[in-house]
Amino acid sequence: MEGEILVSWDGFCPICLQSTKFSATDSWFRDSLRCETCNGGSIPRERALMLTIRQLLPAYAQLSIHESSPTPRGVSRLLAAQAPAYLPTHYFPNVVPGNSSFGIRCENLEQQTFPDSCFDLVVTQDVMEHVFHPDKAYQEIYRTLRPGGYYIHTTPIHKNVVESQQRARLEEDGTITYLAPAEYHGNPINEQGSLVTYCYGYDLADLIAKWTWFDVEVRRFHDRTHGIVAEFNDVIICLKSI
Ligand SMILES: [Zn+2]
Repeated sequence: MEGEILVSWDGFCPICLQSTKFSATDSWFRDSLRCETCNGGSIPRERALMLTIRQLLPAYAQLSIHESSPTPRGVSRLLAAQAPAYLPTHYFPNVVPGNSSFGIRCENLEQQTFPDSCFDLVVTQDVMEHVFHPDKAYQEIYRTLRPGGYYIHTTPIHKNVVESQQRARLEEDGTITYLAPAEYHGNPINEQGSLVTYCYGYDLADLIAKWTWFDVEVRRFHDRTHGIVAEFNDVIICLKSI
């Protein structure tokens, strides 16, 4: 770990399943509160996600799982190692969706090439705030899940935002109209980072329920034992009811 450790405590990590130390080098725990035993480190929202998956789907390793835009650590690495039917995809603008680039299948979350009802679980980690048409993305995820399947994901839900706000719009000619100052987040496959297209607020669960037939639950954590103390650690659980 780089930098001087500001705070550290003992706990149990829901990703690596080890007794561990959670240590932070600065007070923005969202990015700095790392598990010392996770391979590649893990951060609070990833531990919240994995804790939720383990609680809802203890046999997750036997499931057919699609993760869009995985990260090279934490939950993505664990699912890849443990679940034979885990399928990671990225969106590569220059690759035909359904084809692969460097061994990773290309899929546009808003217009997927998968058949209906083919996954038990879909996972995304801080992806939904970067799509231009979240309504289409949620609808496509709903379509590709089997009845009884779950879409479990994280995306920042802002505590002072009553109505979700669009920050950038993709025009028909491919240009982008900025409705708010451009903001970028880190992206493992793009050095430029990912443009934030939506700032979600309290109404996100209502929007998902409007766009799809999902049953929606939002879980917010303050869990020192599992190292889940940070801003923006909400886990959004979408169930495709039978
Ligand atoms: Zn860990």
